[in-house]
Amino acid sequence: MADIDVIGGGLAGSEAAWQLAEAGLSVRLFEMRPTRMTPAHKTDSLAELVCSNSFRSDDAASNAVGLLHAELRDLGSIIMRSADAHQVPAGGALAVDRDGFSAAVAAAIEGHPNITIVREELTALPGGPAIIATGPLTSDALSAAIARETGAEHLAFFDAIAPIVYRESVDMDVAWFQSRYDKAGPGGTGADYLNCPMNREEYERFIDALLAADRVDFHEFEDTPYFDGCLPIEVMAERGRETLRHGPMKPIGLTNPHNPQVKAYAIVQLRQDNALGTLFNMVGFQTKLRYGAQAEIFRLIPALENAEFARLGGLHRNTYIDSPRLLDATLRLKSAPNLRFAGQISGCEGYVEASSTGLMAGRFAAAELTGRAARTPPPTTAMGALLAHITGGHLSHDEGGPRSYQPMNVNFGLFPPVTPIATGRKGRGQKKAGRKAAYTERARADFSAWLAEDPVAEPAE
Ligand code: FAD
Repeated sequence: MADIDVIGGGLAGSEAAWQLAEAGLSVRLFEMRPTRMTPAHKTDSLAELVCSNSFRSDDAASNAVGLLHAELRDLGSIIMRSADAHQVPAGGALAVDRDGFSAAVAAAIEGHPNITIVREELTALPGGPAIIATGPLTSDALSAAIARETGAEHLAFFDAIAPIVYRESVDMDVAWFQSRYDKAGPGGTGADYLNCPMNREEYERFIDALLAADRVDFHEFEDTPYFDGCLPIEVMAERGRETLRHGPMKPIGLTNPHNPQVKAYAIVQLRQDNALGTLFNMVGFQTKLRYGAQAEIFRLIPALENAEFARLGGLHRNTYIDSPRLLDATLRLKSAPNLRFAGQISGCEGYVEASSTGLMAGRFAAAELTGRAARTPPPTTAMGALLAHITGGHLSHDEGGPRSYQPMNVNFGLFPPVTPIATGRKGRGQKKAGRKAAYTERARADFSAWLAEDPVAEPAE
């Protein structure tokens, strides 16, 4: 009998199993491939990359995902070690030879004396200590078991993601805060939305661009239907040029304080997306336009001319739990604390984020099983900020945080705000560079201090 089971040998599960094994615990790692394949995986290898071969920016001095790379390396991540060993040229990004990368992870896991790999689909939740890391394409039987335990109606659905904008990049000489009809809902002030007005000419230009834009085809396996309530905006525009103006862009119940005499022809509303108030999502703007087209078209909205996007929109099948409601601060399921969740199913997005939550779940479980306190990284670090986003550490829904949870890539909008520092850089990008430098300097210092005091950093007996 092993000390703990890890379910899913993807990025998160492999990293979690490695961390546990390195801490001296015996691990059973369940992976259903090749007995049962997912609609996206092509091989039976552990840590297969299902799509791109990029781990994104490797720049820890000015990029949030680069910071996450650095923190993973500091904590002995097997994913980063294998990625570093199989890098291919990609400018400032960390891209890998996908086969070499997953073969390296598989070799390390298969060769570890503390890990036993079981090639089996798990269809029920384990009764003993376990980490569930079965990813966005978790098998149906296990999804159903998780749904029963969490009380969710279903877990797999089209992830209709609307773009998220950095609040500081919205032009407040054009936009204004107001809720429709000044309605103050529970916890609201009557001025909860950021409104971006358009005149008729601007609206027509926007619709033309939307109809002409490049869009992404659905993958053949994405056969989950989408509902009228979350139609992509370009599909709505195809139904009629006025459809959006009567839907998510309706201009009613709002008065522009910059120009009270003139009625806007259409209004795009942005809603606060995180408790810090640094990120705002575009309400009803789910889309499957290609990324390049999205940024270009959304910048046609006058208040968003210089918008910076924390995340662009998308539509794909995904499986994840409502983590801020269901998980505690160390990724344990509140209703069944023998279970931890990690990877995309725990409500994060992206290869590096999946690996990071796998690493944290592994370390937290290792601490608990060896009678030590599980210490979470501070929210000023990349891992801590990601963890706080997933577990609702900043503010849960019950406390007035965002009502519907959406996974996202790590970004500086998830970090507590900073005061920009002098970088010696001149001109337009000066303030932005100063802010990024402040985020990364604080993160590196706080991470080192945390690591120095973390008991799991020391090898277990
Ligand atoms: P996975 O890597 O998918 O690992 C989960 C593992 O669990 C799989 O090996 C699966 O076979 C196994 N499993 C499932 N159910 C069971 C069960 N019941 N019993 C036993 N084993 C089971 N992110 C990016 O950063 N870049 C991209 O380009 C990218 N492209 C994506 C494309 C698609 C089609 C999808 C669905 C997601 C994509 N993602 C991408 C998002 C995400 O980062 C990846 O899905 C990532 O692999 C998630 O890591 P994970 O460990 O959570 O899940």
